[in-house]
Amino acid sequence: MKIIDLHSDTILGMKMKGEENFENNEFMIDLTKLAKGESFVQCLGFFDFKPMSNYDYEVFKQGEQFAEKIFAKYADKLTIVKSVKDIAEAENSGKQMFMLTKEDIGCINSDLNILKAEYDFGYRIMGFTWNFENCVGFGNSTDAVVREGSPTVYPHMNDGLKPFGKQVTEYMNELGVIIDCSHLSDGGFWDLIDISTKPFIATHSNCRSICSHVRNLTDEMIKALADKGGISGLNFCPEFIDEKTGCTIEGMIAHLKHMMKVGGEDFLACGTDFDGIGGELEIPDFSKIQLLIQAMETAGFTANQIEKFGYKNAMRVFGEVIG
Ligand SMILES: [Zn+2]
Repeated sequence: MKIIDLHSDTILGMKMKGEENFENNEFMIDLTKLAKGESFVQCLGFFDFKPMSNYDYEVFKQGEQFAEKIFAKYADKLTIVKSVKDIAEAENSGKQMFMLTKEDIGCINSDLNILKAEYDFGYRIMGFTWNFENCVGFGNSTDAVVREGSPTVYPHMNDGLKPFGKQVTEYMNELGVIIDCSHLSDGGFWDLIDISTKPFIATHSNCRSICSHVRNLTDEMIKALADKGGISGLNFCPEFIDEKTGCTIEGMIAHLKHMMKVGGEDFLACGTDFDGIGGELEIPDFSKIQLLIQAMETAGFTANQIEKFGYKNAMRVFGEVIG
């Protein structure tokens, strides 16, 4: 089953370690593992980590410069897709497809021209915040809270988007950028439900009613997002699947069943968070991802539902928003 994975942190992880081998490395994602796992489109997240960049655009761009070097080195083996047409054209080229995504848009610093420059660079999915307050709004937890695996609620959890965040929503709708709410405060999420005229998505979030972590979505959020045509990518992070048992395939199936029960089969998607997560994972890297597909078959998901999870729902949203 071909897979669209909506979130990974591989490229900046490689930059931090000075790893320039993308064909076969120690990360959870590389070209060999993607081929083995039947990747269709892999989203590559570019993370603006405030303690490192202080939301300085020039510092953030160093990550892009590293990525461009990797893309050039493997130009005969990979391609960056920016539209459904690009995907259709590249599908049989034998090249691995990647879509560029941003996690935290803090470095635009209230400047829509920078947002446009980032769109021109190639990003088609952009997360409003990570865990820090920025020019558009507030995150849904602090970094410290996530590291401790604690579901403690962040004081700004119910704060909505800032006025500039509302402007950015409208601009992203107009440009054709998919908004990612995965790290956004609950208040910001509900503002997006009110304001966004296009479907938006959670690239890597699970169900809060199964695993009570602030990074997961409540049933009310799943319902509202599904009604808007949105999707959520199943996150493999142990703390977001089950505090006690961690990342088991059984636990992942429980989240998928619940997502489907509350949001319907059109809500399912995959968002591994590979190379952004640690701990014991029953699916330790992308090469083993078909184990989850087999488990879905065993658990009684229909072939159509599995295809929707694998890539069809993501392709639908790409078509509706990016074009
Ligand atoms: Zn994340």
